Amino acid sequence: MRRKLAAGNWKMNGLAASLSELTALSDAISPDANTDVLICPPAPLLFRASDMANGIQIGAQDCHSNLEGAHTGDLSASMIADAGASFAIVGHSERREGHHEDDSDIRGKARAAHSAGLTAIICIGESEEERTTGKTLDVLGTQLAGSCPDDATATNTVIAYEPIWAIGTGKVPTQEQIVEVHDFLREKLVARFGDDGSNMRLLYGGSVKASNAATIFEADNVDGALVGGASLKASDFAPIVTALQAS
Ligand code: PEP
Repeated sequence: MRRKLAAGNWKMNGLAASLSELTALSDAISPDANTDVLICPPAPLLFRASDMANGIQIGAQDCHSNLEGAHTGDLSASMIADAGASFAIVGHSERREGHHEDDSDIRGKARAAHSAGLTAIICIGESEEERTTGKTLDVLGTQLAGSCPDDATATNTVIAYEPIWAIGTGKVPTQEQIVEVHDFLREKLVARFGDDGSNMRLLYGGSVKASNAATIFEADNVDGALVGGASLKASDFAPIVTALQAS
C-alpha cells in the first residue's frame, strides 16, 4: 500500500513569523501512520522549519543539478539535506516557465536530490492550450519520460501532476480528467519501473482546497496532493490533510 502525502508549497511566501503556521498545523492534525505531511517553505526558512517540524516533513522548492561549485545563488541538494529537509520539489511549472527549465534540467535536479538522500517531487503538467487541443497525454508522457531519471524508485521519487491552467486559478479538472491522467501515469511508471512504478506516489496539484480535496482523493491513483495557496495557513491545510487521511 502506498503511503499518502499531503505536500504544501509555500512558494515565495513567508517570513520567520510564518513558521508559527507549522506549529499550528502540527497541533491541528492527528498523526497517522500512513500519511506524510510535508511543508516546503522558502529556502531561508529551511533550517528553522526543520528544527521545529514536530512530525511534519520539510522540503525545498528546487535544487541545483550539480552537487557543488560555482553557481551563485543556487542551492545544492546536500545543502538542503544538511538543513534538515528530506524532500525537494523539482520541475514546478513556475520554474519550467520562469527559469526556462526543461525535462533534461529537471532530470538532473532529481538525480542530484537522490544522491543527497532527498525524495524528489517531480512536477509535470499540460498548458490550457495543450489540454484543449487534445495533447494532454502526449505532453505528460514526454515530460514524465524526460524528467524522471533511471535511478527513480518508489522511495526517492514522487510524481506530481499539476495542470498549469489549474495552478492558482481556482479551476480544477473534472474527476474523470484527473482519473484518466493518473491511470495513464501509473501505466507508464509500471512499464518503466515495474514494482517501483506501482509503488511510486502520484500527487494531484492545482487549486486543491478543503472543499474539493475529499473528491479528488477518491481516485485510486491519487496518493495525495501538492498544494500551493491553501498550504500557507494551517487552518486551510489541516482539513486537506484530514481529508487525505480519511480517504
Ligand atoms: C502549486 O503551485 O503547486 C499549486 C498547486 O498551487 P495552488 O494549490 O495554489 O493551485
